[in-house]
Amino acid sequence: MNKKSIYNRIESEYQKDRFAAAKREEERKKQIYSIFPRIAEIDSLIEKNGLELINSVFAVKGKEEREEFTEKIKVENEALIAEKNYILENNGFEKDYMTNVYKCPKCRDSGRVGTEKCSCYNERLMKKLYDVSNLKNKTDKENFDNFDFSFYSEKKEESEKLSPLENINNIYKICSKFVKDFESKHMNLIFYGGAGLGKTFLCSCIARELIEKGKIVVYVSAFELFDMIEREHFGKNRSEEVYDSLELIENAQLLIIDDLGTEFATNLSVTELFNIINHRLNNEMSTIISTNLAPKELERQYSDRLISRIYGNYTLLRFIGEDIRIQKKMRK
Ligand SMILES: [Zn+2]
Repeated sequence: MNKKSIYNRIESEYQKDRFAAAKREEERKKQIYSIFPRIAEIDSLIEKNGLELINSVFAVKGKEEREEFTEKIKVENEALIAEKNYILENNGFEKDYMTNVYKCPKCRDSGRVGTEKCSCYNERLMKKLYDVSNLKNKTDKENFDNFDFSFYSEKKEESEKLSPLENINNIYKICSKFVKDFESKHMNLIFYGGAGLGKTFLCSCIARELIEKGKIVVYVSAFELFDMIEREHFGKNRSEEVYDSLELIENAQLLIIDDLGTEFATNLSVTELFNIINHRLNNEMSTIISTNLAPKELERQYSDRLISRIYGNYTLLRFIGEDIRIQKKMRK
């Protein structure tokens, strides 16, 4: 499933929800009218007043008279509504029982408030993006509980301060703490080191735990991210979808950029990445970056200001040891 069909699916979900809401409203009306005939009367009086008000534009001459008439109707309607609410509330119903039929009252299940997207729209989108990000299948297996420390050697290399096992233990603790303190503490991590050392696995663990806590997490590979940026700027396949995705990337509670360094970076995309990183730092939104590149290589590939923003504000976690994928093959 591609991104395009996600948006179509969201639209048809909303349509279905609105349809269901209309049905629910009809049912509730019927129910209430049969229990309280007076409420049916009240509603038809309110409707009648509404029509009279419209007609008064032609029927009532004179500005003052019309204002007087409008005021009279207004007072009448207020009394009718108060009576209706009184009946409902005194019989154990919410006063908006008949009209509060939407999943999201804010946008009445349209996904939009005025010209802006409703917050429920982004929630739906996030959920869908998560569904297609492969994170869902992956994270069922990849969680903190089944992190396998046995792939990390206890033997310390001479050039190192820590053994791979001690090192990964520290990283694991920092990642657990990252999740635990997520709400109260703004923190950014950069995972770097060779391939197959558990970086992506830990990214998935963190994503999974926070999603389960209801946080808005966007997980994107650097390749996808840069592709979106290029498409947005150069109008090729430019679309609302790409724009929305970029907006999500800017504003998700946690952004994870996987595999930085594998993308085709241009000046434009590096600048845009800087803007995203910067925007997130300024707004205290956490970001995790994972990369196979060493700091020296990162410096070579990206602008100085990007690198200094990252070094100055991210906790650098270096992964060491032997490629787990190769070890797994050997064990078989
Ligand atoms: Zn809404």
